[in-house]
Amino acid sequence: MKYIVLSVFALLLAGCSSGLRFDDSYTATGQNSRVQYIVLHYTSTDLARSLQLLTEEEVSSHYLIGEAPATIYRLVDENRRAWHAGDSQWQGRTWLNSTTIGIELVNQGFYDTPSGRHWQPFAPAQIDALIVLLKDIMQRHQLAPGSIIAHSDIAPQRKVDPGPLFPWKRLADAGLLSWPDPTEVARQQMLFSASLPSVQWFQEQLARQGYLVPRHGELDEATRNVIAALQMKYRPARYDGEPDAQTAALLMVLAKMAAQH
Ligand SMILES: [Zn+2]
Repeated sequence: MKYIVLSVFALLLAGCSSGLRFDDSYTATGQNSRVQYIVLHYTSTDLARSLQLLTEEEVSSHYLIGEAPATIYRLVDENRRAWHAGDSQWQGRTWLNSTTIGIELVNQGFYDTPSGRHWQPFAPAQIDALIVLLKDIMQRHQLAPGSIIAHSDIAPQRKVDPGPLFPWKRLADAGLLSWPDPTEVARQQMLFSASLPSVQWFQEQLARQGYLVPRHGELDEATRNVIAALQMKYRPARYDGEPDAQTAALLMVLAKMAAQH
């Protein structure tokens, strides 16, 4: 009787896994990670509220990094989808939650005063922790330089995070991002100062970078928002959305860099 009970139990256990058995002795060469990009955000609030928002509400991210201490919280397994990107597009791909890893940084973002908009600087230790995490993710998922993008890149009409104080240059110095050569940018800027390209040209170049941007040749609000997103990343000293000579130079150099890869 005891034997029968045990046998039934064993059958039940087998039943749980549908009796499926796999032979794992072969592995396909043709495969890669489902992760294409890493999207950076700030939370616009403090740690306690950030943890609450990212764990108890609909929005979530794979990682959250505190300010002091710069603790790295893992909130969603990398194999699962976190809900951080929302309606988004980059390089023709849409709804990027499926193909990205989301990292939130605890940071208040900005507040507006009569004297203008104030942004909260990022804590250096927080960026140090982020760089270590980014290196680890990039290596494990075999991501190319250029895979790290801003929420403002993929949703420029809705989002400005991680904002103009986010130190993209530090990421470039750490080898995580390609950076336009300043000498080359200055040279191109001189050429463009003599003759500024059309709005259509700016829109085409921005689209080449990966942005979802209007292509009608007019400088509307949507186009300005996309130009500002690019400026926040590569020229944070002025992100007014104006299609100026230095922005044209940056786009030209970035396009040349992309062609070389
Ligand atoms: Zn965001």
